[in-house]
Formats: sequence, C-alpha cells, structure tokens
Amino acid sequence: MDRDQFRSAAHAAIDDIIGYFDNIPNQRVLPTIAPGYLRPQIPSSPPNQPESWSTIQADVHSQIKPGLTQWQSPNFMAFFPATVTYPSILGEMYSAAFNAPAFNWLCSPACTELETVMMDWMAQALHLPGCFLSTSENKGGGVIQMSASDVVATVMIAARERRVHAQAKSEGLKEGTTDYEDRVMDLRPRLVALSSTQAHSSTAKAALLAGTRYRSIPVELGNDMSLTGAELRGMLENLDADNLTPYFITLCFGSTNSCAVDRFREITEVLKEKPHWQQIWVHIDAAYAGAALIADEWQFIAKDFEEGVDSFNVNMHKWLLVNFDASLLYVRNRNDLTDFLDITPAYLRNPFSESGQVIDYRNWSIPLGRRFRALKIWFVMRSYGLDGMTAFVRKGISLGETFAGLIRSRGDLFEIVTKPAFGLVVFRIKAAGSRPNGEANGALVNGSNGLVQPDEKSDAVTKEVYELINARGEIFITSTVMAGIYAIRVVSANERAEEKFIKRAFEIIVATAEEVLLKKA
Ligand code: PLP
Repeated sequence: MDRDQFRSAAHAAIDDIIGYFDNIPNQRVLPTIAPGYLRPQIPSSPPNQPESWSTIQADVHSQIKPGLTQWQSPNFMAFFPATVTYPSILGEMYSAAFNAPAFNWLCSPACTELETVMMDWMAQALHLPGCFLSTSENKGGGVIQMSASDVVATVMIAARERRVHAQAKSEGLKEGTTDYEDRVMDLRPRLVALSSTQAHSSTAKAALLAGTRYRSIPVELGNDMSLTGAELRGMLENLDADNLTPYFITLCFGSTNSCAVDRFREITEVLKEKPHWQQIWVHIDAAYAGAALIADEWQFIAKDFEEGVDSFNVNMHKWLLVNFDASLLYVRNRNDLTDFLDITPAYLRNPFSESGQVIDYRNWSIPLGRRFRALKIWFVMRSYGLDGMTAFVRKGISLGETFAGLIRSRGDLFEIVTKPAFGLVVFRIKAAGSRPNGEANGALVNGSNGLVQPDEKSDAVTKEVYELINARGEIFITSTVMAGIYAIRVVSANERAEEKFIKRAFEIIVATAEEVLLKKA
C-alpha cells in the first residue's frame, strides 16, 4: 500500500467506522453466529498475491462484523463498559504511526514525558492525594499499563521482593552473598497475598504469577460485601498463628460483582497494629469505579488514600472515554518498583538513564517495549475537558439510580441484593412461595434482618430469566453469584446509554420475569 492508496483506504475506513458507530443502536447486541463460524469463510492459507483494500474492507463487513458483540451498543449492560471515543481513536492512529516501543526515555523522549504529564493530569482529575504525583517529594508517580491484571501482577511481584529483601536485610545478611540469596528464597514460600472474596480474579492470578500463596477473606451481605477492618484482622491473626507472612492486599474500590467499596480507613488503621502488618503492600483496585473520583461528590473517598496505600489503579478504558488499553497505575514510591524491576544489560545503558534525570518506564512494568498510550489520553482530556468527562460519569451514575428506582417499583417481582452503586444494579427475581433459608413460612424472601436470603427457587427463576434475555439478544446483561445468591447485574454507564434504553431494558426484564414465573406457577 503506497501513500495514495493509504489515503483513500484510510478515508474509506474512517467513513466505515463512523457508519458503524451511527448504526450501533440498531444492531443486535449479541451476535447470532455459532462457535467456529469464521474459519470456513477465511482461506486456510495466507494469500500469495496482494489484495486491494476494497476487497479486505468488504470482508470486514461480511465476515468480522457478524461476529462482533456490540460493546458500544446502548443495550450492552453487561460486565463493565469499554468506552471508545473519536479522540481516543485519533490517539491510536498517531500512536500506530509513530510506533515507538519507548521502553527508555531515549527511545522517544516525547512518549515518556507525555506519559508522566498525563499521569499527573489524571491524578489531579481524580483528586488523588499529592503523594501519587510524579513531582511529589516521596517519589510517587504513575505509569500506563495494559490492564488491571498487568498492574496487580506488577505490584505484587514488587511487593514480594520488597518484603523478602527487607526481611533478609533486617537479619543482618549482606546482599550479594549466598546466605542472603538463600534467605530470600526461603522466605518466599511463607508469603501470602490477600483480598476479599469479592476482588477480581486478577489478584489470585497475580499470586500465581508471583509464586506465593493467596487467601481470600469472606465478606458479608450485611456490609454490602465490603471488607471491614475486623474481618482483615481476623485473617491476619490466623496467618500469624500459622506462621505465614501476609505481604500484599488488594482492596476493592468497586468490586466486579457489585461495586463494593472496602472500608479503606478501617483497614489501614488495622494494619498499623503490628509492625509486620505495616509492611503489607496495600493496592487499591479501582479499575472501573475509580472513574467516579472525577466528580466532586466522590472525592471524599480519595482522602482515604493519603496514608497507608502503596498503589492505586483505574482503567480509563472502562469508564473514562479512552479505548482499550489504558490502565493507570499510581505508586507512592517509584523505588518500590524500580528497585526490583530494573534489570539493565549493557545494550540498554545510555547517558540519560545513567544520569537518573529521566524516567525509563521499562523499570515500572513487566514488558520492555510499550505502546504510546499517553497520546489518546491527551486527546480525550483536551477534547472533552474535565467538565465533559465529569458529566459523562455522572450520567452513568444517574441512569443507574433511575434503573434501581424502576426495579424497586416492582417489589412484587424483584429484590435488590446489594446497594446500587456507580451505575451498577444487582438484583434477583423473587420466586413465588420462596422460603428464606429453607424456613417453611411461605414469606417472600427478605429475611428478618432485611437482607436477601439464599433461596434455590429464586436462583432458578433468576437464572432462567437471565439466560432467556441474553438468548433473545435485545439487551446483554451478566449474572453473578454472591453470598450464595444468584443475581443479575445491569450496568448503565455505557457511553451511549440513555434513559429510553434503560427503560426498555426494564420492560424486557419485567416481561421475561413474568413469563418465567407464569410458566412455573
Ligand atoms: N478489577 C476489576 C474490579 C474488574 O472489574 C476487572 C475487569 O472487569 C479487572 C480488575 C481486570 O481488568 P483488566 O481486563 O484490565 O485486567
């Protein structure tokens, strides 16, 4: 493809992309194809002769589009949203053109320097404490990674190293000796990473990658599935009794199941109680809900991160108008990463890095090469302004409140399982004659403590309603199991979400619930 062919192909692709977005609300949100649909349509071997862009583009229409789940559809209410906007697409285009895997500052100074500035812009936008700014005296700062999973794996490995090296040094061993190395290796098998049962599975996976143990701490519906200080203390005391060493904890700021927010202040107070608990690395997973910090009314949460929090993560690609991938990691002390992730062979040495005046982001993450992701953040922040970004986040929360109100208005059919939060509503269908905790009182499900109780009949009805709705494909929702309760999750923070779509989703859910309940009557 030469420059003229690129120009016309790019124009055609952009027209096509605009048409795709315009047409999304009319598309079925879930594809109708069967597994394996694509292979028979694509030649089994690559072409020997060049093909024209028009031929390739035609295949995007006929072969790829039918197999897409429409994440940008206003009827996509599943998982968490994955936003994409025109300025972020422009950022991707420039990033693709510059194609600079800027692992060191020298590889393309603009990539590193824009990333540092954008991370500081976002820290301010989210009202994070000053300790996370790159200009802070404590050597804080941020780095853009691919995903929240990469982030938690990176910080957990750094936390493991920080813990074992501090221990070996505190025992008077000298770094570089065999005794020191042996001690570091001996300590690792006793290490335990922690989170509540509600943390995203990426924390368990990170522990697997870090080669340490992992324990999840049960939480209660009565606390809206938030981890409390007392629950953490209980786990830490058990680990002490078993002679195990907790070294890392993920705290939820918007859990995947229900957007639970752990009791940060209570937890960091508990961690002060014993010197070895103070060494635990505290990581906040705010992958989705952290976006809410952009709005003044949620700022109070960020105050809890002033003390006792080592790292914080939010995905701009979920709810902040930047397309995948843009996962922001902030650390209180960059040395916690660079002390352990800086492996510098001769070919990576250069005077700028040696001078210590520049940031080499390869030492803040696992991969060496990295994409120029700061551009799309820059474009989005400038195109929307903080006012536009804040208005967008507030709209998602407000639509969630509308949806929760609709669900509450049909108390005969539905029960809300956890407090609706950040545009997510978790509820279940009430089965007729369901019995709380198996008691034969015939009352509908809410237990005497006002909490939704586990109930097999309601589980079965809810599951059937959920499966029927997704099979019909007018809206796409997800289900979950929490505190032994099968529930439906509806998220209203999609970029194209509007009240009329939320209301239509509610009508579909009501009609399907009534249909299933009638069948079972
Ligand atoms: N944390 C939370 C709360 C999530 O909901 C998710 C995914 O939805 C993740 C982490 C993992 O995100 P990623 O795909 O960026 O690894």
